[in-house]
Amino acid sequence: MATCPSDCCDGTFDQMKPCKQMTTTVLDSCLPLPLPVEVLTEIIPKAKDFALLHGAAMRYKSNFDPDSLKMAPFFLLPSAFPRREFDRVVKLQPLINVLMHRIAHNHEFLESSLKKTVNVDDFTARLWKIYTTVREEGVSQWVSLGLFRCDYFYSVPSHSAQQVEINTIASSFAALTTRVSLMHRYILGELRKPELLHHLPENDALAGLCSGMISAWEVYSCPKAVILFVIEDVTYNICDQRFHEYEIRRQRPDVHVIRRNLTQISKTGHLTDDKRLMIDGNEIAVVYFRAGYEPAQYHSEAEWEARLTIERSRAIKSPSIQYQLAGTKKVQQEIARPDVLKQFLSDSEAELVGQLFTGLYSLDLGPEGDRAVQMAMENPERFVLKPQREGGGNNVYGAEIKEVLEKIKDSAEREAYILMDRIRPPIQENYLVRPYEPVRLVEVVSELGIFGVILGTNKDIMINKFSGHMLRTKLSSVNEGGVAAGLGALDSVFLFD
Ligand code: ADP
Ligand code: MG
Repeated sequence: MATCPSDCCDGTFDQMKPCKQMTTTVLDSCLPLPLPVEVLTEIIPKAKDFALLHGAAMRYKSNFDPDSLKMAPFFLLPSAFPRREFDRVVKLQPLINVLMHRIAHNHEFLESSLKKTVNVDDFTARLWKIYTTVREEGVSQWVSLGLFRCDYFYSVPSHSAQQVEINTIASSFAALTTRVSLMHRYILGELRKPELLHHLPENDALAGLCSGMISAWEVYSCPKAVILFVIEDVTYNICDQRFHEYEIRRQRPDVHVIRRNLTQISKTGHLTDDKRLMIDGNEIAVVYFRAGYEPAQYHSEAEWEARLTIERSRAIKSPSIQYQLAGTKKVQQEIARPDVLKQFLSDSEAELVGQLFTGLYSLDLGPEGDRAVQMAMENPERFVLKPQREGGGNNVYGAEIKEVLEKIKDSAEREAYILMDRIRPPIQENYLVRPYEPVRLVEVVSELGIFGVILGTNKDIMINKFSGHMLRTKLSSVNEGGVAAGLGALDSVFLFD
């Protein structure tokens, strides 16, 4: 039993039973909380050591030190998530993979979805330019590799998982999440609760994504060619990335990875006459982008040139430029229009996938967009305003939505944004463990990520699979809970019926 934290009623709650005023729902934690102080005193150092010794760690912006790591923030116990909805989104992942793949290969749909966005959003316009340039010149590599991650909240009002977004570029945490899953198994064991372990699903996220990269490498069919990780100038989430390298090497000892940022690629990357991408003497079979999704990662024209060189090449890209465009917020809003799914999926498949979407609204100039603006101005707390950006920290919430819309509502600038219903996840309690800070029992909400791998051309899909999951949990009081920003932390799933 947990106590309602929001003063909306006086009682305690069974798992998933809503409060009287329906404002919030409180989930039972996997164990009755709080834990006795003596138990906490013993278990916290064990959890921290397990995390550190298994590489659930990162570098921090403050006091950056390339010679040392700090443990990543995490929750002490796995967080509750309804099994029925977990199973549902796992099962639907291959359909979502196919949906994104088909959208990425439907030029007319991409063009009609993004034609207004590219007039007002410079970043999307630059990506679009690369896409059209390569299209006009003739595509050298028709195979794309999708390493997607679909994010969901369990929504209290709808009693179902609702999609937050689909990431088609730099879907991160496949490695660290598997370490935290292991840590939670260990902790429940240490707490003498082995009978709870069957609530923790297996998680092969890292192995699955890496086997996708290896399959793409095999399709490229050049034994000496390597996999290129396109990285940031400074990588804070270094463990997550390095574990991908180690896993690739474990699965295929003969496959090598090199890491370069876009500036380095601009200096030494070039194409051969037959469009092979060469970097410092290495032929590149597969390009895995862990950067390139935000404007700040393109410091100058040189980095954009590097991106164009990559897209022109015969290397298999994850994502290809069309995958990245398919993953924009604008395209996701257009997909959610009635009947659009039926252009890409069978009626019954469209029905199943459509149930995952919450309300998404175009803000394009015109009567439809005007209605959405008005709706958001009247009830801003019911919505999230999203620009065409990735990486967290860009969305607008609550009263600020009104301020932003007030400024842009009469101009085409508003076409750079989309509007989305705000999803209301249930609250639960857990212990937040952060380096150098006392452990705190806090109220949190959890966001489930489901990984998917797809490899194929517009005509032929060679691999299409669900590929593990991750859980990120954040304080219930914050809008966004970036792990690096300190308001969110790594977690794992405790399934309940
Ligand atoms: P990004 O691509 O920058 O990660 P997201 O759309 O995933 O953008 O939003 C970032 C975060 O904002 C999510 O992880 C979630 O915590 C919160 N968020 C986004 N959309 C919604 C929504 N519709 N309802 C509630 N929270 C949301
Ligand atoms: Mg994203």
